[in-house]
Amino acid sequence: MEMNIKKVLTPTPGRGLVIAGPCSAETEGQVMQCAKDLAKLNQVDLFRSGIWKPRTRPGSFEGVGKEGLQWLKRVKEETGLRTTTEVAKAAHVYDCLKAGIDVLWLGARTTVNPFSVQEVADALNGTDIPVLIKNPINPDLGLWQGAVERIYKAGITRIGLIHRGFSYHGKTSYRNVPRWQMAIEMKRKFPDLQMFVDNSHICGRRDTLQEVAQEALNLNYDGLMTEVHPRPDEAWSDAAQQITPQVFGEMLQNLRLRKPTA
Ligand code: PEP
Ligand code: MN
Repeated sequence: MEMNIKKVLTPTPGRGLVIAGPCSAETEGQVMQCAKDLAKLNQVDLFRSGIWKPRTRPGSFEGVGKEGLQWLKRVKEETGLRTTTEVAKAAHVYDCLKAGIDVLWLGARTTVNPFSVQEVADALNGTDIPVLIKNPINPDLGLWQGAVERIYKAGITRIGLIHRGFSYHGKTSYRNVPRWQMAIEMKRKFPDLQMFVDNSHICGRRDTLQEVAQEALNLNYDGLMTEVHPRPDEAWSDAAQQITPQVFGEMLQNLRLRKPTA
């Protein structure tokens, strides 16, 4: 398929794009504190936060819903950080467009389902908001590719990829195994799309976040998406993998974010 794709966001020259923020928006205070601390690092390009959370089993925290969009609006007004959140159905898209969210993302559990992807694509038709597309939870490149094509056919020209690893039933130190070769193959299929690593969902733990991010950057990825929470141990979702803004700042210092061949 012939494509004319533009960058989702243009990074500061000489370094990769940095997307960070909590797994979930929990309270207005938590979101604002996280955003203010991240803004102080002066290296974050996009603030992430889940508003509607696709939880594996019912009964866990399923997100604050659209009330949280107002908190993201406040983040932008008070810190200048642009914002992104996950959308999984048409109503999410409409709410985000109304609230002025800058970038949308499709989660791994949405990419896996062509009905959902098409519903989101139809809702996006006629807009030009940038969209990031995570790989599907299972290692099926066709689904990832199909999601890109459906969103592109809806008229979206700023599309990026997020590599968040693939589920794996067996013993592994990863939460989702990276299968780097698959992401490389996807990059080969779509050379114009920016590719970001979501080290948080690949690792599922804090101590390996930096090495996985560096591995991706060494493969010439365009940047990273990392989950950051002011009090990670108390997070309402994905507590084990979240880090404080301060630890995240240290990680950025230690990473070679510069693309080797720019
Ligand atoms: C998330 O980003 O918090 C999330 C739910 O991610 P994924 O779709 O990659 O599981
Ligand atoms: Mn998460």
